[in-house]
Amino acid sequence: MATAEILQELIRSPDRLQAVVEEAKMLAFEKGILMRTRDAPNSSEVVTFQPFTLLPSPVPKAAYLQALRVQTHLNTLMDKISQDAEFLEEALAGCVQVDDYTAKLFGIFKQVQKEGRTQSIVVSLNRSDYMLDQSEDGSASLKQIEVNTFSVAGFGATDRLPEVHRKILTAVGLAAESEFIMDAKRTSGMCDGLAKGWELYGREKAVVLFLVENVQISRLSHRVLEEELWSRNIPVIRRKFSDVSRGGSLDESKRLFIDGQEVAVVYYRNGYMPQHYTQQWWEARLLMERSLAVKCPDISTHLGGTKKVQQVLARPGVLERFFPNQPQVVEQIRATFTGLYSLDMGPEGDQAVEAALATPDRFVLKPQREGGGNNLYGDELHRVLQALRSSPERMAYILMDKLRPSPVQNILLKRDFPLQVSDCVGELGVFGVFVRNGEETVMNECVGHLLKTRSAQHDEGGISSGAGVSDSPLLV
Ligand code: ADP
Ligand code: MG
Repeated sequence: MATAEILQELIRSPDRLQAVVEEAKMLAFEKGILMRTRDAPNSSEVVTFQPFTLLPSPVPKAAYLQALRVQTHLNTLMDKISQDAEFLEEALAGCVQVDDYTAKLFGIFKQVQKEGRTQSIVVSLNRSDYMLDQSEDGSASLKQIEVNTFSVAGFGATDRLPEVHRKILTAVGLAAESEFIMDAKRTSGMCDGLAKGWELYGREKAVVLFLVENVQISRLSHRVLEEELWSRNIPVIRRKFSDVSRGGSLDESKRLFIDGQEVAVVYYRNGYMPQHYTQQWWEARLLMERSLAVKCPDISTHLGGTKKVQQVLARPGVLERFFPNQPQVVEQIRATFTGLYSLDMGPEGDQAVEAALATPDRFVLKPQREGGGNNLYGDELHRVLQALRSSPERMAYILMDKLRPSPVQNILLKRDFPLQVSDCVGELGVFGVFVRNGEETVMNECVGHLLKTRSAQHDEGGISSGAGVSDSPLLV
């Protein structure tokens, strides 16, 4: 692999390496690959580059294309799940008994069901994540980590990273290879989904509401999307849960107003962790869900993205329920699944517990949480599962086979991080947009990819948590 050789060459000549790194950082600034800093996350006066790899990472073309190809089917699947209340109730029955956060989301879902859904326009911006799992015979296969349906990140300010990587490869004498770096212009595709939802809502003065967090480190990535909406004459406002609590209301036909402005689309970029809510903010969430505004995503789609649902989907016959006459679609989706195991009470759950206690390093224990840093591995997995062994509390988790991507060397460029070669593993994400108006599918598209890379020493590497960095796939 030419990039691996170049890396070794660069390591042997520190001055040249320093110059290439300097060039890469300058290019990142020039192309707007920026974020606010952890020390001043709400300041508009201090920025740094978004962390990224010095070189693009090799990704097998077949796996890349496989991931892109399955995305529209996954979009359809998540939408079908969101319309199947009976399925969601059954899948989450055990989990809501013991997990307060999922129970709260489920409570909103039930309330909305009871009142009858007001809005039949649905917008989903999804991202399905994968690793290339290395089996003992050396072959690698594309395996899904999870499908995210809520507040997916990883686009916006990093859309132009391929330009940086192409320039760097050219600078180190790999101009020919640079042609195999895939473009990553996905923000306008994601924008199409929100724009279509707004258009279908049909009130020119109504706004798209970005529901945002208090700490706004990724403000600049949001902005790329906001600017794209404004350029299409779609007004955007940004509000927090506390703002909705204070200034939000429904009129008699359940139209949502915030500070006097009608909201066409609620786009959630916050609300995926229990810590994001106070009691009052849960009420604000309910207000938005009950409203006539188009939700991106609605509460049912949010629940469809839980880890418990993912595990249930891997059970025999479940995908067939959603694609009854499409065995090829079922096969395509199922090919990306790895082993997923229920920890519900009963013999099946008991067996999974025993297997994980016997060989904890083969598994990942996952609670119903998002945003990284919540899963348990190795000794910790063993300790927690041992304590929960016979308790219904174990139903809050699922168990998953641990994937083993093979490491590739690279240099991670992060602010205040030493310049060193690390063994890295990558995760490929694929973005999907789905819009439905009642019975009619208005949009179902795959709009691009994301590659995030982290040191193989860490078990997890979310970009927002600081361990992962943005990368570009170099197809091989
Ligand atoms: P979250 O919702 O917190 O992002 P994920 O299921 O995506 O939860 O897991 C977070 C991270 O943990 C992933 O990005 C990946 O690095 C690692 N991870 C998750 N599942 C597995 C697995 N089965 N094998 C190996 N690593 C995993
Ligand atoms: Mg994830």
